[in-house]
Amino acid sequence: MEQFVVSAIKYRPLSFASVVGQSTIGATLKNAIQRGHLSHAYLFCGPRGVGKTTCARIFAKTINCLNPDSNMEACGECESCRSFSENRSYCIHELDAASNNSVDDIRSLVEQVRVPPQIGKYSVYIIDEVHMLSTSAFNAFLKTLEEPPSYAIFILATTEKHKIIPTILSRCQIYDFSRIGIEDIVSHLKDIADREGVTCEPDALNIIARKADGAMRDALSVFDRVVSFCGSNVTYSAVIDDLNVLDYEYYFRLTDALLAHDYVEAYVIFDEIQRKGFDALHFVSGLSSHFRDILVCKDVKTISLLEVGQVIAERYKQQSAACPVDFLFEALNITCKCEMDYRLSANPRLLVELALFTLSYIGTEKKNDSSEHSEPAAVKPATGTEHAVPPKKTEPAPIPELPKGISLKNMIPEIKTEPETVEIPEPSEEKTFDEEQLVREWKDYAEKIKTKFPRLSSRLLEHTPKLVSENIVQYPIVGEQYKEQMEKRSDELLAHLKKTLSPSIEVKWVVQEINAGDSDKTRLYTQKDKINYITSANSVIDGIIKDLDLDYR
Ligand SMILES: [Zn+2]
Repeated sequence: MEQFVVSAIKYRPLSFASVVGQSTIGATLKNAIQRGHLSHAYLFCGPRGVGKTTCARIFAKTINCLNPDSNMEACGECESCRSFSENRSYCIHELDAASNNSVDDIRSLVEQVRVPPQIGKYSVYIIDEVHMLSTSAFNAFLKTLEEPPSYAIFILATTEKHKIIPTILSRCQIYDFSRIGIEDIVSHLKDIADREGVTCEPDALNIIARKADGAMRDALSVFDRVVSFCGSNVTYSAVIDDLNVLDYEYYFRLTDALLAHDYVEAYVIFDEIQRKGFDALHFVSGLSSHFRDILVCKDVKTISLLEVGQVIAERYKQQSAACPVDFLFEALNITCKCEMDYRLSANPRLLVELALFTLSYIGTEKKNDSSEHSEPAAVKPATGTEHAVPPKKTEPAPIPELPKGISLKNMIPEIKTEPETVEIPEPSEEKTFDEEQLVREWKDYAEKIKTKFPRLSSRLLEHTPKLVSENIVQYPIVGEQYKEQMEKRSDELLAHLKKTLSPSIEVKWVVQEINAGDSDKTRLYTQKDKINYITSANSVIDGIIKDLDLDYR
């Protein structure tokens, strides 16, 4: 029994020309070889399965070939080429950094680099998944990369360029590999199918290519799987069954139903899709892509953006002819919004059904209101001089009567609004201060206002403020009327103290009773002293004393 060899290995490209989808990189490398401008380090970046390692191997083979052809491809016949194709060449060393990422692995590689090649001109070291090397391994490698022997060439490959440290990046010539286009993958698969004697429907290969998402290796392994499932006749329906891909046919049928305003049919189709096990979100994003594909069919300039097989492309063209542009515009708005709301929705199925419901009513208002015919919203391209005019927003579809038992409120996605968190500013750090600081700041302020408000200033300098508790300051005021005045005029003082001492400082103006015992300065011991003090403070009393002849003297 013949041993089965996977297509990715059996049909691995042996020359730059046969690498699919990377012709620019192939041409650049060949050019460098021809001119003899070889660098000691290359970095091949790009997604998985696009040909980085393959190109590295072809490069190694070509630079060691004894008789390269005029097109700078390896001859495939010389001793070196044969040793390459028989996997016995000593000129190529491959290290998978994903599994050999320690310092020791790199050290043994560096040891190998010291040995010059016996046959061939160059020793090529391919380090795959180089971003997986540990930092210390990177550092151990750096010295060799800086001063390599003349015969050594390093080709580093990575899917994650951003993880490569700048010191490595700056020492490498960087090549960016791109994803392979659907068309390129399809034609390569077709080629292999022909060689294997397998007949394939073009649409079937297209589905495989789409599933591979730009990676040839994936496309080939999917192809192998499909062939082992289908045998020598690969059909579209067998492929969508095997790969569990949602058939285009559903979307064509669904769009027909929507254009006919038949939401019942739309619901039935959606249910059928769900029963087959397809995710509702996947379905909605597929529907968006479907509308997009119909839209690109509207113009010959954009039709090349349609990446489907021939038979399906024809169906797209037909449906596109039946779809007005303003329907597509509104439909895309609805499906895109549905995709956005999906994750927030408490009842996603209902959300999708509401979207289908709304889709099925696009354009019904215009038919009812024929007197006012509006131009279809043509999408104007933005030009340099003109402002881009957004397509005219058509009126929202009228809300049709709801079937019994369905509440529109329940269909609207429940958007969980988090309570807005109000940033409460951290109270500025409480400063602690002592009485000495208080007195200093107090006097400072009083001095500052001396020329502007001399009376207020002198009143503040009259006594010494007292710190009665942590933030409370007491200042004596003689006379109730002055207390009010001080309260009115002390805002600025308070602001000064808050700023310099503590934001929570408070000043209490304490009306001082005219009480002999409390005054420090003048202790009033005798009746005479007391009377004198009272009369001097209040001339009315003096008058009364005189009037009533209360002379005590
Ligand atoms: Zn050769």
